[in-house]
Amino acid sequence: MTYLAIIMTLTLAFSVVIYFLASAQFDRQAHPRFDYGRDGEYSILRQQFEDLLRERSSQAKTDLLITLALLNGGVLLLGAWFSYFLARKTLEPIEEAMDAQSQFVSDASHELRTPLTALQTTNEVALRKKNLGLDEAKELIGQNITETIKLRELTNALLGLVQEEHGDAPNTRLDLRNVVNDTLQTVIPLAQAKSILVEDEIPEVYVFANANSLSQVIRILLENAIKYSSESSTVHVNAHSDGENVLLQVADEGIGIAADELDKIFRRFYRVDTSRSKQDTHGYGLGLAIAKTICDRQGMSLSVESEPGKGSMFTVGMKRADTPQA
Ligand code: ADP
Repeated sequence: MTYLAIIMTLTLAFSVVIYFLASAQFDRQAHPRFDYGRDGEYSILRQQFEDLLRERSSQAKTDLLITLALLNGGVLLLGAWFSYFLARKTLEPIEEAMDAQSQFVSDASHELRTPLTALQTTNEVALRKKNLGLDEAKELIGQNITETIKLRELTNALLGLVQEEHGDAPNTRLDLRNVVNDTLQTVIPLAQAKSILVEDEIPEVYVFANANSLSQVIRILLENAIKYSSESSTVHVNAHSDGENVLLQVADEGIGIAADELDKIFRRFYRVDTSRSKQDTHGYGLGLAIAKTICDRQGMSLSVESEPGKGSMFTVGMKRADTPQA
């Protein structure tokens, strides 16, 4: 309606101006200032001529009024359609954001409800028991703690995702080897628990990125590489320059991902539905969504290549920074 009001105000204003200007012009032509002689043979002719001019002038005004009214009607119809089109275009991103927001809230609530229901049920069953032994009570408390830890992990991941969407971490020049080494230290215990060897081969290369964000992306990829690999396998981390970019690759010899799942794994809460992936491992399908959000915000790229049964390779692309002068 606002768009239409603007269009109509402009058209009506122009129409009024055109009408009055044209009318003034017609009126001038209807009253010519000729000297036909004082009285005599021309006076009747003059009277007839002036009447004719006046008639033509008023006819022209009526024609102009009809044309302007038709034009305004046309503009009203066209403007209504155009305004509706513009309004839809303006609202589209807002609508999409709201849909994504409500989808996120419903997915998050669903994920939170499952462990909460488990907690509630086990506690209610235990409470109804007449003779709850100490060992049983301890086991129950242990289960409660496990579920609570899962809930904390989930809320941390959700918070991380929201923060990444709104955070704007500044990029600086970083020694990629340092970032990878620091991050590797945090996942070594996970790898050791499955006797997985993590091999890194990072040349001396400087990148333009944010240390915390880059480290978080690498950690997510390493954790997944370890999580979805069988015991005693190897995870490779390497990097090489590619023009103005540096490509960091995390490759595993794990279960791999089917081709039709490759574009879905970056969605929030998406987990590949295979027995080995979903049932044997714990997760909420948020890791890669967080990694992708970070990469998008920080001007990095994130891609994956994979072959089921052979392994997966995730590649992070980032801007190369100049090597510091010695
Ligand atoms: P999560 O690991 O918590 O399920 P992610 O968002 O990190 O969530 O990963 C989404 C899904 O992508 C995982 O559930 C898994 O099925 C698949 N995936 C991720 N990384 C790998 C990998 N290195 N090898 C095989 N599958 C993977």
